This record gives sequence, structure tokens and C-alpha cells, in this order.
Amino acid sequence: MKEWGNTKIPSRKSKKNALILSIFLGWLGIDCFYLGHIGYGIFKLVTLGFFGLIWIRDILAIFKDELIPIDVEEKLYVKCSTCGRSFDQYVQTKKYGAPSGYCSIMCAAKDKERNY
Ligand SMILES: [Zn+2]
Repeated sequence: MKEWGNTKIPSRKSKKNALILSIFLGWLGIDCFYLGHIGYGIFKLVTLGFFGLIWIRDILAIFKDELIPIDVEEKLYVKCSTCGRSFDQYVQTKKYGAPSGYCSIMCAAKDKERNY
């Protein structure tokens, strides 16, 4: 089974573990706690997997990579704040949203200079 994340930054969570948790304890939201979706996990705990409906749906969602851990980082193209050149960066989009940054140390320094 292919694990989450990419080879550069693999997820710290295991898909196999998540599936086992989802099948046996998904109706208590334990799979969501494991994946880092705490609010959603509490919802499942309180509603007992929304009476079994989202329990089953989430097992499939984990299997199909639709429900993924919060720590999975994606490769995104970011525009440099100084020169506007695009570069790629690995970011936790689920946690922090779209990033901004500099393509090089030179550009970071230049931008700092401008602020003085
Ligand atoms: Zn730049």
C-alpha cells in the first residue's frame, strides 16, 4: 500500500494503521484523532460515526486517499515576494494555507533592506 506524503517529506502517519483504526474504532472517531482532524473526530465520537453512515464512508475515504492526515505536505509553486519568480516549496497546506516566501537568500535580504 502506498503511504501518504511524498518521498521527500513522508507523512508521520501510516495509512495501514489509519485503516485498521477506522475499521475497528472509526465509529468513535479514533481514526480522525489519529489523522489530526480533532474537531471532526469529536463529531464522530458524539454521533457514533453519524449512526454508522460516515463511519463506513470514512473507511472508504481513507482507502481512496480522500481523507488524509493533517501533516501531509504538498509541493506547491510559490511566487517570490521580491522578484516574482516561481519556485517550489513543500508546505503543510492543510495546516497553514497557501504560503509566501523568497526564491533565494538574496531575495530575502533584498526585501529586508527595502523595509529599512
Ligand atoms: Zn526572488
